[in-house]
Amino acid sequence: MHDIVVKAPDAVREIADRLEGAGHETWCVGGAVRDALLGQADVDWDLATAATPGEVKRLFGRTVPVGIEHGTIGVFGRDGRLHEVTSFRADVETDGRHAVVTFGVSLDEDLARRDFTINAMAWSPSRQELRDPFGGRADLQARRVRAVGEASRRMAEDRLRALRAIRFAARFDFAIDADTWRAIVDSAPSLTRLSVERVLQEWTKTLQQVRCPSRAFEQWRASGALAVLVPRLSAVEAVCFEAVDHVPLPSCSTRPERAALRLLTRLALPFVTLGGREAHAALTALRASNTDVAFAGAVADSWVRVGLELERLAADDVPDGAALRGIASSIGRMRVPATLRVFAAIWAARRERDVAAPTGAQVARLARRMLRIAFRDPIALGDLAVSGDELRTIGVKPGPLMGRILHDLLQRVLVDPAINTHDQLLAIAVQHVEEN
Ligand code: ATP
Ligand code: MG
Repeated sequence: MHDIVVKAPDAVREIADRLEGAGHETWCVGGAVRDALLGQADVDWDLATAATPGEVKRLFGRTVPVGIEHGTIGVFGRDGRLHEVTSFRADVETDGRHAVVTFGVSLDEDLARRDFTINAMAWSPSRQELRDPFGGRADLQARRVRAVGEASRRMAEDRLRALRAIRFAARFDFAIDADTWRAIVDSAPSLTRLSVERVLQEWTKTLQQVRCPSRAFEQWRASGALAVLVPRLSAVEAVCFEAVDHVPLPSCSTRPERAALRLLTRLALPFVTLGGREAHAALTALRASNTDVAFAGAVADSWVRVGLELERLAADDVPDGAALRGIASSIGRMRVPATLRVFAAIWAARRERDVAAPTGAQVARLARRMLRIAFRDPIALGDLAVSGDELRTIGVKPGPLMGRILHDLLQRVLVDPAINTHDQLLAIAVQHVEEN
């Protein structure tokens, strides 16, 4: 197998060479080797070494104890990046969540504790040699995720592996080996042992790394993991997962704000048809951040309140402006763009399944109109040509009456923005006062 060449970055080779020069066998391991064999560039290269963590620290000037209890030291390379160097280790005791580790083992033992054959290969830059004791390369060629060793035992050691298998399969569009799949299904009832943080992290990684995550979420469902970990989603229609596939990968944008928005859109989508309260509850249970929970809850609320009406309006050649302004106002100006993106993804997924939904052209036209309305028309209390302070000058005290008057003024302005002038609104307010 001399044909295999893995090209590790120079900075990584230098770190390996320094360790080897001091007499410590050192290999590139894990995801970067896998990705390099797949022809994909990787930025995170992990190294495994026979050196102890203390020896690694002594050999390099700038180090960071990133995971000292697991024997991992971060070493700054010439490229300015932090590269993880982990001492060869084996797991001596596991409980489905944590492992007690021991150092001073061989490379092959270190590879044996890794989860899947495609993740259990090592490359030595100095020897130009691939170490592949479990047939990872053959599995890459067969496009298969397969556990190292006995699948059921490996899943029991660490319950996260069930979710990782599903993520890797969806990410590379691989199948899951039959024994490994059975072990995942058997694992599902025990997934309660995972901390919510690890579940959310795995869910988020899936959204970040997998171009079409619907496949992964369907496998969460088929394996039973979804019912155990995110029960509110277990009855959601498949099309809600498929909608996520219509939002581009966050990493495909070089602009950080856009990447963050894509991730947020992907996170919210499966929850949207649950409605505001349930979406809020489901994401709170997953310990999503407060802003993410608030966003998904608000969009889910809008979907249930105005989704159908927007579908109808999208089909009209000249949609009723007052209706669109009312909807934009109820969504809230700043949330209109993101809400429309979420709705558009659901409609796109529906079209793909030949379920009735607005056409792409109708959605684009609707979005243009809604954005113009949201950012040009008076649709919020603050846009009104009279303020609460001015109402006081005609004798309206702050309180329920003032609230009612302002609300009524806004409703009228939504119907006819032309009346949003100081004099016209004040005249209406005076009428209110006289009627009270
Ligand atoms: P990614 O691109 O998602 O980072 P990766 O393969 O690098 O993929 P990491 O989570 O960074 O995944 O882990 C690095 C390596 O550590 C894996 O390739 C695998 O060999 C090993 N590993 C990680 N998590 C586990 C686990 N839960 N059980 C066994 N081995 C694991
Ligand atoms: Mg990694």
